Amino acid sequence: MNFGLKDCIKTTSKPFLIAGPCSAESEDQLVSTAKELVKLNQVNLLRAGIWKPRTRPNSFEGLGEIALPWLVTAGKESGIPTTTEVANAKHVETALRAGIDVLWIGARTTVNPFTIQEIAEALMGVNIPVMIKNPVNPDLSLWLGAFERLENVGITDLAAIHRGFSVYDHPKYRNVPNWEIPIALKEQRPNTPIICDPSHIAGKRDLLFEVAQKAMDLNFEGLMVETHRDPNEAWSDPSQQVTPAGLRTIVEKLILRTQELSNNVVEEIEEIRTEVADLDDRIFDLLMKRMKLSDLVGQLKRENNITILQQEHWNKIISKRLEKSEDYNLNKKFVRQVMDAIHQESIRHQTAVMNPDQSSKNDSKS
Ligand code: PEP
Ligand code: MN
Repeated sequence: MNFGLKDCIKTTSKPFLIAGPCSAESEDQLVSTAKELVKLNQVNLLRAGIWKPRTRPNSFEGLGEIALPWLVTAGKESGIPTTTEVANAKHVETALRAGIDVLWIGARTTVNPFTIQEIAEALMGVNIPVMIKNPVNPDLSLWLGAFERLENVGITDLAAIHRGFSVYDHPKYRNVPNWEIPIALKEQRPNTPIICDPSHIAGKRDLLFEVAQKAMDLNFEGLMVETHRDPNEAWSDPSQQVTPAGLRTIVEKLILRTQELSNNVVEEIEEIRTEVADLDDRIFDLLMKRMKLSDLVGQLKRENNITILQQEHWNKIISKRLEKSEDYNLNKKFVRQVMDAIHQESIRHQTAVMNPDQSSKNDSKS
């Protein structure tokens, strides 16, 4: 019988756990890792990369087809269903023939609609679960598009994997989480489980726990953690892999919280929420009044032929506000975002007053 991914995620207690090495290196490596993982009593899927799409050539790109039966054997010997990454139609056919239980699509593949379409067509009429990693760039539509392409060929047992997004240089993470994007995916696809891949977000094993805990706090269904018997010697991604024992420590430390509001807090939370809603009403009331002032400024600028943007004035306003972030106990980035949003809306209002033919007040886009 085929493995049902969504059903398994629904019926296992959190987190649904995917573990195994970044890359398959030998049959012994896979079998021994799987046997260690089975002792955790909590691993639901065994992962290993057979084909590794690396960003630069001359790095290890996976052993390819020869390693597939090793993964299948490790799965059989440990009793854990298997999963591997497919990046083109040939990979799909080869993995299906070998008897892999679940496929996943990597971040460098989700980014390309032609490749996703090719993979989808290779899966036409096949009953197999597929996990779709987010694209390397923070583009929700590309991620959604991959789901739609697979659904169009009849693949419905789908899950999402959040592995963070590429940036040029980040002081902490290998790939920035941009949590708002998987949250937005959840909003659009409430029935699609989301698994977090802290390994590729963090890039360093010391940071795995905090990312995994955050994913649990955001109610993600599961985790995919790269696990190697000798992480420092791994042929790919050595610094982010943990031993099976290291994985056990992380999982045992996780605090799992429930989404249900228990009776003893319901009343208190409702009371606070009412107050919050009231404050939000007042914030928007103030914003409305503030934009009426922007309209007045726009009128004056129009009558006197003055530019909308007054760079020096704006620089003063923004730097004064940013200086106060600490007093407000608000994150500087947040203060910046709020001020930028207010400024953009103010420019839109002034544009409407100054060039009534060109802009429409109802233009909600920018
Ligand atoms: C992987 O899972 O080993 C991998 C290559 O991941 P990503 O597609 O997230 O980079
Ligand atoms: Mn990896």
